[in-house]
Amino acid sequence: MMSYHADERGYYGEYGGAFIPEMLYPNCEELRQNYLKIMAEPSFQEEFHQLLKDYVGRPTPLYFAERLSKKYNTKIYLKREDLCHTGAHKVNNTIGQILMAKRLGKHRIIAETGAGQHGVATATVCALMGIECVVYMGEIDIARQAPNVARMKMLGAEVRPATSGSKTLKDATNEAIRDWINNPVDTHYIIGSVVGPHPYPDMVARFQSVISEEVKSQLLEKEGREDPDFVVACVGGGSNAAGAFYHFLDTPEVGIIAVEAAGKGIHSGESAATSALGKVGIIHGSKTLLMQTPDGQITEPYSISAGLDYPGVGPLHAHLYTSGRGEFISITDDEAMKAGLDLCKLEGIIPAIESSHALAIFKDRKFKEDDVVVVNLSGRGDKDLQNYIDYFNL
Ligand SMILES: *Cc1c(COP(=O)(O)O)cnc(C)c1O
Repeated sequence: MMSYHADERGYYGEYGGAFIPEMLYPNCEELRQNYLKIMAEPSFQEEFHQLLKDYVGRPTPLYFAERLSKKYNTKIYLKREDLCHTGAHKVNNTIGQILMAKRLGKHRIIAETGAGQHGVATATVCALMGIECVVYMGEIDIARQAPNVARMKMLGAEVRPATSGSKTLKDATNEAIRDWINNPVDTHYIIGSVVGPHPYPDMVARFQSVISEEVKSQLLEKEGREDPDFVVACVGGGSNAAGAFYHFLDTPEVGIIAVEAAGKGIHSGESAATSALGKVGIIHGSKTLLMQTPDGQITEPYSISAGLDYPGVGPLHAHLYTSGRGEFISITDDEAMKAGLDLCKLEGIIPAIESSHALAIFKDRKFKEDDVVVVNLSGRGDKDLQNYIDYFNL
């Protein structure tokens, strides 16, 4: 049977691995040799799950969306990651990684952030643990995302502007990598999605897998069976999707649906539909599918939702796409915004625009009346209010 988990070298099929500069090798190697051992320690598991319960607010509900289900004539459940502390699933991973860093004896954390959501989730757990935190962020993103910059500062983090190149996420990533090379002993680099060199994609997927672990026991209670017919999630880098899919990857009866941002249309030149448009290449230390020009320059992605605005996709998802295990659907800005407003009116839940992409599949993708479809509601819409206001003239 085909494997959908990372092998020892961090490969998912042909994707993954660790394509890193020589000088980064000791850092990644230290993590690679220790992460599984540390995660298996009972004291680690105990502390991780205690914090997920008392600090994050887990388990998040699995909510049967009755009015939404009626509209689309199928059974739709929402996994409410929007109710996590800080408003999205990202904190599951940053909690895991801060505990990992502590056990590795690190007393300084660095991270990169684009829209600021991962920076906030990182600054949050550093405040929780009293650990120094430096977040690299493109100068342009700092100007665009003032509320998240303020949040990070309030939480005690230092936000360092990346002033080179396009002054956005990839430049912030370069700065973070440079910092890590210069501080190999005392610093841990918290990556925010299932991207980056091995072992990050596997480690982040394992931390986020608490999502599908909970879905199984919650569905058993509500439907008398652990497995849904379909599980649906939006994909930026792919961490909320990896967590929602994780415990169903090896169960072929469970359909896996990954939803990407088509922006203004897949072929509009303003899109982030990585699987549809991507070619094999290396980004962020990992071999995967990414949007690039014919001569291999990474293309600027576009999506109305900042969290899906990433030119690559984690190696697990590249493998799910290429192997055919996953069904990939791309959703435009307009379709996502409409589906988001629909959820507000039908269920009284204002979703993050990222999550609205996953909700938008029901208009065209039909399911059977008795299908059980779990949609991972990755985050809440508070952070997107200005976007909703501008789009709908509210
Ligand atoms: C960051 C973010 C995403 C995209 O990141 P993944 O790693 O693909 O999950 C999706 N939804 C929300 C609410 C986010 O904040």
